Amino acid sequence: MKKQKVIIFSAPSAAGKTTIVRHLLEKFSFLAFSISATTRPRRPNEIAGRDYHYLTLAEFKEKIAQKAFVEYEEVYQGLFYGTLQSEIERIWQEGKIALFDIDVKGGINLKKYFGSQALSIFVKPPSLTALAERLEKRQTESEERKAERLKKAQEEMQFEADFDCVLLNDDLDTALKEAEKLLLQFLEVETA
Ligand code: 5GP
Repeated sequence: MKKQKVIIFSAPSAAGKTTIVRHLLEKFSFLAFSISATTRPRRPNEIAGRDYHYLTLAEFKEKIAQKAFVEYEEVYQGLFYGTLQSEIERIWQEGKIALFDIDVKGGINLKKYFGSQALSIFVKPPSLTALAERLEKRQTESEERKAERLKKAQEEMQFEADFDCVLLNDDLDTALKEAEKLLLQFLEVETA
């Protein structure tokens, strides 16, 4: 049976990963976004079932008990995020390649799970100062949550070597082109 491929994007919060992921999804119709489940409250610009499946903590725990997750984590205190097995199956049934936007620890776990089926990409901000500035511009998080994200980002910056490749997001256009190239290279190699 032909092995199904997946693409994993991980990065410290505010490194620009979501922008890159959205660009790739628009550009390549053979990709499909793996919609994670989360207990984080929905942001005003987000749509349930498009950005995330929003669950209560009780619902999330029920899914853990049912072993419905390939991986899950308490990414921030009290906020759970997880990749549903059913999401991956839905995407593969559509004949598409799953694209994950997931935190650094989750990305490492998914790479271990999928092995050579997966291309894991670490999106790296030019510096921690740049990252702090981007995070500061966000209107979606409280001061406390921003500080928590920055602290986690500092820790996550140490894990780039655990990924197949590192994508520097200094100039966005360059990063988008580089992301396209990495993806196409991986798919060509794998399908050859
Ligand atoms: P945000 O709250 O900004 O949407 O996401 C916070 C972090 O959780 C981001 O790094 C995002 O990539 C990550 N994340 C989203 N979905 C999942 C998931 O299914 N599993 C894990 N481990 N992290 C996730």
